[in-house]
Amino acid sequence: MNPFNVAPADALPLLETWLEGREPAYRVRQIMPRLWNRPIASWADAGELPATLREALQASFPVPRLRRAAHQVSADGTVKFLWELPDRGSVESVLIPEGKRRTLCISSQVGCAFGCVFCATGRMGFGRNLETWEIAAQVREMALDRAYGVPTNVVFMGMGEPLHNWEAVDRALTILNSPDGFGIGARHITVSTVGIVPKLALLAARPEQFRLALSLHSPTSKQRRELMPVEKKYGLDDVMRALREFARRVTFEYVMIKDKNDRPEDADRLAKLAKPLGALVNLLPLHPGGAPGFTPTPPGTIREFAARLRALGVSATVRRSRGLDIDAACGQLRTTVLERARGKVAADDDTGVEQEAGV
Ligand code: SAH
Ligand code: SF4
Repeated sequence: MNPFNVAPADALPLLETWLEGREPAYRVRQIMPRLWNRPIASWADAGELPATLREALQASFPVPRLRRAAHQVSADGTVKFLWELPDRGSVESVLIPEGKRRTLCISSQVGCAFGCVFCATGRMGFGRNLETWEIAAQVREMALDRAYGVPTNVVFMGMGEPLHNWEAVDRALTILNSPDGFGIGARHITVSTVGIVPKLALLAARPEQFRLALSLHSPTSKQRRELMPVEKKYGLDDVMRALREFARRVTFEYVMIKDKNDRPEDADRLAKLAKPLGALVNLLPLHPGGAPGFTPTPPGTIREFAARLRALGVSATVRRSRGLDIDAACGQLRTTVLERARGKVAADDDTGVEQEAGV
C-alpha cells in the first residue's frame, strides 16, 4: 500500500507502522500534510524532516507526479493540461478561472467505455482506470504550481466515466474533500455521470454533500439509446428511480444537438422529468470537436428551449463554450443563466459553474 493511493485516514496508520523503529512517532504529523495539504514536489523539499528520513521516504514512497506533457492557454483564460501517466497513457484536465473561482475539470479514466456518439473521449474507447493518486494528482499538480494553486471547485467532467471507476473515485473524493487532503468543500465537488445505477447508490450513501450531474441528453429512452449506448443497460426509468432515492438536488446535463433532441416537445418531456426532482437543467452547446456528423443546435433555438423549460417551472442554464480555441475537452463549463425560476435554485448553488442572471 502506498500513502498516496489511499484516503488520508488510511495513510496515517500505514505511515505510523512504517515509522516504527525508524523515527519517533510524532514525525507522522509532519509527514501527513506533505501528502496533499502542503504538497512537495519531492521528499527532498520537506526541509522540516531530517535528511535520513527524507531519503527513506523517497525510497519507500516516492512522490508520484504527473508529467505535464503540454499545456495550452485559451484567449478566455481557460487552461488545458495534458498529463502523461507513468505507463505513457495520457489524460487531460482543464482549469477554468472565473472571478474568484477556479474550477478544475478532471479525468477519471483513460478513454471511456460508454461510447456516447457525440463525445471525443467515447470515440477513443476504454484505455484503463486511473488510480486514486492519478485522479488526486491532477489537483495536486495545481497546488504545486504557484501560478494556479488549489482549485476552489472540482468537476469530474474530463475524460472517463467516474462511476465506472468507483473505488478510485470514492477515495479521490475523500482526498479532495478531507481537511487532511485538499479541504475542498463537498458542495464544490461535482461528479458527472451517465447514471451507473448501482454506483449512484454508493455515491448517495456518502454523508458528504457532493454534487451530482446526470448526463441525460434526451428525455425518452428510445431517443437516448441512439445517443448513449449505456441506455440499454441502465435505462431512463431506472436512473430516474435512483435519482429520486438520491434525495439531493441534481443537475441534468443536456447536450443540444440539432434535430436530435432540441424540439419543443423534447423540452416539454424534459420538464416533466426535471420538475418533480427540482433538478436544474444545464444546456450544453454541442462541442463540434467531439462529434463529426452532428450539428450544434443554433443559439437562438437553445434560448427558446431554455425559455420553454422556464415557462414550465424548470431552472435552466446555458453553458458558454470555454476554451474553444484550444479545443478543451470539457470546455463547456462556464454557464450563462438564461432563465432562473425564482426560488428554484438554492442559495448555495455553488457547483463551480458560473451563472449570470438576466441574460
Ligand atoms: N462520463 C461522464 C463525465 C465526463 S463527460 C459523463 O458523461 O457525464 C462530461 C460532460 O461533457 C457530459 O455531460 C458529456 O455528455 C459532455 N460532453 C461530451 N461530449 C460533448 C460534446 N461534444 N459537446 C458538449 N458536451 C459534451
Ligand atoms: Fe464517456 Fe461521458 Fe464521453 Fe459518454 S460523455 S463517452 S460517458 S466520457
